[in-house]
Amino acid sequence: MPDRGAAAARVESLRREIEHHAHRYYVLDSPEVSDDAYDALVRELEGLEARWPDLVTPDSPTRRVGAPPSETFEPARHARRMYSLDNAMDFSELDAWFDRIEKDLGRRDCAFVAELKIDGSSLSLTYKEGRLTRAATRGDGTTGENITANVRAVRSVPLRLRDEARPPAAQGALLDTPEDDAHRPWPAIEVRGEVYMPKSSFARLNADQDEAGLPVFANPRNAAAGAVRQKDPSVTASRDLSTFMYQIADPRPLALSRQSEALAWLARAGFRVNPDIRLCASRDEVRDFCETAIERRHDLPYEIDGVVVKVDSFALQDGMGFTARAPRWAMAFKFPPEEKTTVLRAIRVQVGRTGALTPVAEFDPVLVAGSTIARATLHNEDEVRRKDVRVGDTVIVRKAGDVIPEVVGPVPGLRPEGAAEWTMPATCPSCGGPIWRPAGEVAARCTNVACPAQRLERLLHWAGRTAADIDGLGYEITARLVETGGLHDVADFYRLDAEALATLDTGRLKKDGTPIVLGETIAAKLAVSIEASKTRPLPRLLYGFGIRHVGSTVADALAAAFGSIDALVATPAESIAVVDGIGPVIAASVRAFFDNPDNIVVVEKLRAAGVRLVEEQRGPTVPQTLAGLTFVLTGGLVKYSRDEAGAALKALGAKVSSSVSKKTSFVVVGEDPGSKHDRALELGVPVLDEAALDRILQTGEPPRS
Ligand code: AMP
Ligand code: ZN
Repeated sequence: MPDRGAAAARVESLRREIEHHAHRYYVLDSPEVSDDAYDALVRELEGLEARWPDLVTPDSPTRRVGAPPSETFEPARHARRMYSLDNAMDFSELDAWFDRIEKDLGRRDCAFVAELKIDGSSLSLTYKEGRLTRAATRGDGTTGENITANVRAVRSVPLRLRDEARPPAAQGALLDTPEDDAHRPWPAIEVRGEVYMPKSSFARLNADQDEAGLPVFANPRNAAAGAVRQKDPSVTASRDLSTFMYQIADPRPLALSRQSEALAWLARAGFRVNPDIRLCASRDEVRDFCETAIERRHDLPYEIDGVVVKVDSFALQDGMGFTARAPRWAMAFKFPPEEKTTVLRAIRVQVGRTGALTPVAEFDPVLVAGSTIARATLHNEDEVRRKDVRVGDTVIVRKAGDVIPEVVGPVPGLRPEGAAEWTMPATCPSCGGPIWRPAGEVAARCTNVACPAQRLERLLHWAGRTAADIDGLGYEITARLVETGGLHDVADFYRLDAEALATLDTGRLKKDGTPIVLGETIAAKLAVSIEASKTRPLPRLLYGFGIRHVGSTVADALAAAFGSIDALVATPAESIAVVDGIGPVIAASVRAFFDNPDNIVVVEKLRAAGVRLVEEQRGPTVPQTLAGLTFVLTGGLVKYSRDEAGAALKALGAKVSSSVSKKTSFVVVGEDPGSKHDRALELGVPVLDEAALDRILQTGEPPRS
């Protein structure tokens, strides 16, 4: 067992190593080690921090989500105002700006930096002594909101600046040799940029919002702004957010003289900086950059709504100054909006995994923002009414966030006579069951638990690539299996055998009128895929259940913390909520799922079928010296909270239970113990005081009983 000093040193080097790999992964998008190796480092750090809680610091990589949910956000006054940008709507407006600059400066050789205009939400990050101390929104430019707890959960935001970026020592200072990097002081630094949500995550989030009966986000900007303003930081963590930083509020202490240098410094300091930056020597080069950006915008994984052109030299910038709302030295070249018109042919109602009914517009195919679209979700009944789109209308369509097809509204003058207002059907289009719209929700739902459409969606979710990944099991076969009564819940997949599958009627007919069956070859392959899906990693199965709020990231965190479905099933919501990356909202949702006896039946069926419900060899990185021992904690402890003590014991392999039985190895008794103490005495279970607990945690050695 390491002593405290050795542990402290190990903790620090683990943190450096984890920060390094997180930077490679989240900032540079080029990891050096496997996810497993990274996880192992994090787990070792978690183990050590659990054993020595006093070594935990707020900038530890394990503490990204730690703050409790807040009710409101404190106002955050900006030391320097956060300005908006002036817009150029086309090249002639951009040219007019170049003309003005040339006239003002009296020269033509001004260098510009062209950057993509990321469609996210503005973010200000303050670092004192190299550590993140505050994150704020722009607000009205003078005062924003303090969103530090949430932004800590965004992985590409460094909690500490990298040493490579330390500014040179002040003139005449004693410490100016390179070896003294780590000792030169950091000035206070405020960096600015954009927090954004990738297009794919935005699309997924909106699909989830629809399913949950919640309003959707109009674009990734609103989605990102919404995510950083969550009351519960773990919800922020569950939304896939990233950042691009592009500005240093006051570059002087860093001895930087140009925007291009500032961008390079930001990358050195560990920030994620957009790679599409061009230092342009002429307005033609800027124009060329803009044209390329317009062409490429649909291929980027995040949305951009223009190009920002900035005068490179800070000295020139200072000379130009600001108008009341924007700098004179920068201009946003905005992309033309991409909208098309087409004819709305039908509004069809789809039934989702949780029974949510979604009206979907079907229209004549049109090319919009780089691809052909023919359908768009209308989200819910209110939305259809608000937009007042009717079958037969000529409608304006576009892509929200550059990815999600969206009907903007009808062209009123082109409405055919007699076009009727649309209404939600009174019964489920799949099962004919009753429809219910909960008060305060926008989604109408089919309330029939046996609804085949819902079942189909749930089954497809389980079989999907990011879940159990049953290769070859597509929509058609799954639908047939549901129709023929072979599939009720996800555990039924494991009752299908090759023989039965081979004779599955596909519902199609041969030319001679005989039904086409699946056949032996496909059936055999499918049986192999089903078998292979029994040993998927635990997070994928957790994700596959389709529990509300449990996306891949949350599933990873749950699997890492509990290691098995059984452990999760046995854990009360409060203890789920304390896991890094989880909070009360997610914990309650997980708890509700496993409190439903129907779901436990499915878990048991999966187990009986041989589906692996535990994490694959979860190599403990701390010696499991307490393996096989069960502890119960009662009463108040001085040095630890009960959760911390429990986690520390678990890190050493112990089981921690909430009630005393004959199987209990030890009861740890703190101040004012309750009935558990009496029960321990009654059953003759050995009792330990806090000092004894402390000894166990310090030495890692089991107590002598
Ligand atoms: P607007 O909100 O249209 O006034 O545009 C100004 C906003 O664009 C700024 O507040 C930034 O949040 C955002 N923006 C996105 N990318 C950049 C960039 N590369 N440089 C400067 N601002 C940017
Ligand atoms: Zn139904």
